[in-house]
Order: sequence, then structure tokens, then C-alpha cells
Amino acid sequence: MTGLDAAVRLAGVSRRFGALATSSVQAVNDVSLAVRRGALTLVMGPSGSGKTTLLSMIGGLLAPTEGTVEVEGIDLASLTPAALADFRLRSIGFVFQRFRLLDALSALENIELPLTLAGARRPASRVRAVEVAARVGLTSRLDSKSEALSGGEQQRVAIARALANAPSLLLADEPTGSLDSRAGHRIIELLHAVAAVGTTVLVVSHDERLIPFADTVVRMEDGRISAIE
Ligand code: ADP
Ligand code: MG
Repeated sequence: MTGLDAAVRLAGVSRRFGALATSSVQAVNDVSLAVRRGALTLVMGPSGSGKTTLLSMIGGLLAPTEGTVEVEGIDLASLTPAALADFRLRSIGFVFQRFRLLDALSALENIELPLTLAGARRPASRVRAVEVAARVGLTSRLDSKSEALSGGEQQRVAIARALANAPSLLLADEPTGSLDSRAGHRIIELLHAVAAVGTTVLVVSHDERLIPFADTVVRMEDGRISAIE
């Protein structure tokens, strides 16, 4: 893959937790990887293999102890904390297993929030939130409080929220882990559709049912990449 095809490039990335040599954990160990732009890449591995730690470093939520993380050609370590926060807000969308919505807000308000944080004003922010909600099939649920929605609907709100600022990269950590298989199927189909229109999607999961939807499958074991399929 040439530099232009890679949305994310990891070089020799490691992450250790704990300072003591005797008790520290090497969560990610010397990972080098290029993630193809506009594709769905699935990182699979058992619990504790380092998937969440890897995703957190790609998303700029956690700094590596060694190595470099480049997103869209930008070395995240070169950014000030404020510039990194701004880059995350505008360029990276996050989706988590447990949705992390604001329960007291409606579906639409949850989707509008990152637009407001990025400086958009009404009515433009509303118009955009409605448009993204339609894309995930939530038009009939816009005014529902998020706590009143089903798990699958909540995850679709979370995906719409993650897409609101049109990020180039969408990161999802076990996005189907709290859902039954039917709702989970719908979520991975949606993530696949997001990748098909040009957003780079990186999903970490131990759910083998997601494999048919992936363009590339990266397998992790004990903090290292064991295979790329
Ligand atoms: P996965 O997402 O594949 O289940 P994680 O990245 O969460 O794996 O964890 C990898 C390893 O790093 C595990 O041994 C875990 O206990 C350890 N780990 C993760 N986060 C921390 C932390 N904040 N402090 C200490 N150890 C951690
Ligand atoms: Mg995890």
C-alpha cells in the first residue's frame, strides 16, 4: 500500500501500562500496520489481546510508549493537546460497545452535539443532524429520549453522532457486543455501507460473525499482529 492509500499508519507501536518492570503489562507490542482508506478493517482477537489499547492509540486517546501513529499523514505526537482534541472532533468518529449516549437528550440532540462543539449553529446543525439520522434509518425516532430506544437504535444514534462532523476515520470498539445478533447484523451492515462511501472504518471485535463484512481482517494475539487476511 502506498502512503496515499493508507488512512492510518502505525510504525513500531507499543504500549506498556505500569512503570515497574516486574508488574508492567505490554498491552500492545511492536505493531506496524497500514489501514486502507475507504475500507472496513476488522481487528479480531481474544479478550486482553490489546485491541482496545490499539484503537485508543489510533484515535489519539492514549499515547504509545514507543512508535508512531499517523492518521491522514499527521503524526499524532506532533500535535499539541488542543490541536489533538480538535483533530479528534473533526476527523475521527468513535463508537463504543455501550453506546455512551447522553440519556436525557433526544436522539437528534445527541447527534447534534458534536456539530455544536465544532462550532456549527442552528439551523445548519439541526439540518445536518436530521440528514445524518436519516442515513442510519432513525428518522422516525428523532425526538425519543435515547434511554427509551432499543440497543440497536441507540447504537445507530451513536454511529450518526460519530458521523456528524463527516470524519475521515470511524473507530468502533466492539460495536455489536451489547446487541442481539439481528441488531448486531444491522450495525455491521451499516458500518460496511459507511466504508463503501469513502470513510475509513476500523472495527475491533472478537465477534467472528463480522468477518464477512470486512475488507481486511487483522488478527491480534498477546499485543502483536499474528495474521492479516
Ligand atoms: P482487548 O480490548 O483486546 O480485550 P485491552 O487492550 O483492553 O485488550 O487490554 C490489553 C492488556 O492491557 C490486558 O492485559 C489489560 O489488562 C491491559 N490493560 C489495558 N488497559 C490498561 C490500563 N489502563 N492499565 C493497566 N493495564 C491495562
Ligand atoms: Mg477491548
